[in-house]
Amino acid sequence: MKFGNVEIRFVFGILPAIFLYSPGKQSGVGANTKYNVIRFQSDLDIPEHRIEALRRHELEHVKQFYMTFGLSEILYQKSPKYRLWAEAKAHRVQAVHVQLADGDAGFFVWAVEHLRTHYDLDITEDEAWDAIGEPLDLSNHPDFVEEDQ
Ligand SMILES: [Zn+2]
Repeated sequence: MKFGNVEIRFVFGILPAIFLYSPGKQSGVGANTKYNVIRFQSDLDIPEHRIEALRRHELEHVKQFYMTFGLSEILYQKSPKYRLWAEAKAHRVQAVHVQLADGDAGFFVWAVEHLRTHYDLDITEDEAWDAIGEPLDLSNHPDFVEEDQ
């Protein structure tokens, strides 16, 4: 459901996640999630599947908020272990969405580097790969249909 700059989606079928959209201040996309509210900015020149991938990243954090009965906020701040788990899951969901949309596993490389360097986690590249996991094997994947040209 979308009303102007507000969109409501649901996680776990029934629990609301509220997107508040504003135009991007600089080239790119960005988002900040607190509780079940996602402040979201994106430029028009970003491909829609990349924007949707970031929405799904943020929806993972909303799921985590509900799964922990709201404790995710404090866990995220205080526990690097929790932060690694939470961000690895969100980065994987984002990278899988991009891979299924354009067939390119290259976004995983970005996700691993982003996870390693942006969340004060003090992890190696191998540890970041272990946390996020390998790209999908699309050769027989039901959600991916390679288009001719
Ligand atoms: Zn995140």
